[in-house]
Amino acid sequence: MTVLITGAAGFIGYHLARRLLSEGHRVIGIDDHNAYYDPALKAAREAQLTPFPGYLSLRGGIQTPGLLTSIMARHRPRVVVHLAAQAGVRHSIEAPDAYLASNLGGTFQLLQAARAHPPAHLVMASSSSVYGGSPAMPYRETDRTDQPMSFYAATKKATEGMAHSYAALYGLPITMLRFFTVYGPWGRPDMAPFLFTQALMQDRPIPLFNRGRMQRDFTYVDDLIGAIRALMDVIPHHPAIPVAGDSLSPVAPWRVVNIGNGAPVPLMAFIDALQVATGRTARLQMLPMQPGDVAATWADTTLLDRLTGPREPTALAVGLARYVDWFTRYYGAGTRTAESMLHRIGAA
Ligand code: NAD
Repeated sequence: MTVLITGAAGFIGYHLARRLLSEGHRVIGIDDHNAYYDPALKAAREAQLTPFPGYLSLRGGIQTPGLLTSIMARHRPRVVVHLAAQAGVRHSIEAPDAYLASNLGGTFQLLQAARAHPPAHLVMASSSSVYGGSPAMPYRETDRTDQPMSFYAATKKATEGMAHSYAALYGLPITMLRFFTVYGPWGRPDMAPFLFTQALMQDRPIPLFNRGRMQRDFTYVDDLIGAIRALMDVIPHHPAIPVAGDSLSPVAPWRVVNIGNGAPVPLMAFIDALQVATGRTARLQMLPMQPGDVAATWADTTLLDRLTGPREPTALAVGLARYVDWFTRYYGAGTRTAESMLHRIGAA
């Protein structure tokens, strides 16, 4: 089948594209390679995809009016996986405009394109951040999501509403995926696993917000990709047939699914495991809570498990060992600045 992936040079988009190409599917990837984090890392990821004959790389901003519509008209993808977004909780407080343009403007253009040339299934990335800072955990898809704590979370929540309206109005089958902190090879340089590993490698203190009293439902990237791949084939039907516990809409071919590990890890335990994986000893810099952050995330994965069958989540020690292996091959151990080593391209 032909699959359109927005954000294909991104962390998750790259892994998904690679998985689909290895299965023999045709993948059209669009990405603007913006400089939110080092574009060389995005180029290096995409360089792993271009040798596949089934890969078509397109460069452009998805918020450009009509761009996605012309791509969809030309290539008629069976499935669209929408991953392009301006990510990052803290950055959304400093630069909210980018979130408006990419997350709301980009998603609007995507929905318009899908309306004009409907795919069999539109799969879209949302985020655990939509659950806000609610202490009632684990988070279920049916929990309230009307109290975002950051502008990033607010835009993700807004895209859920926009997408639901297109599912209801135009019968577009849409699955909205709420990802929980993803880590693994080729990971994002603005996220804790990268920043912690880099600090350890450079023998610098690890900055710990909320004095380390945080927990995250860390999800290994291969597990996430396996779940997305399986859910691509589980198309929500219209009219919805409600099943107890499902997040199907009664009026639209629409479903929301958490993709997480299902086991929250205290940050101090994460750092312990990272010390083992790197063979280095951490120095910690305790910092106050950051505005926009939430203290904990934890996915209820009952629905995911029911839809995709039994999972065997990758153990943190295994996932971190693979991550550190990639990190040291890509950046080199003990480099002063990761950016200086970006020409090193390692295999995932
Ligand atoms: P990423 O930043 O690595 O990937 C996003 C890609 O989209 C980037 O390559 C970027 O260049 C591209 N992009 C951004 N705006 C664009 C635009 N307007 N036009 C074209 N391309 C654009 O992020 P990721 O970690 O791979 O995240 C993928 C999706 O998953 C995002 O929607 C993100 O919000 C969501 N998500 C990720 C996590 C996580 O832990 N990584 C958690 C929750 C949700």
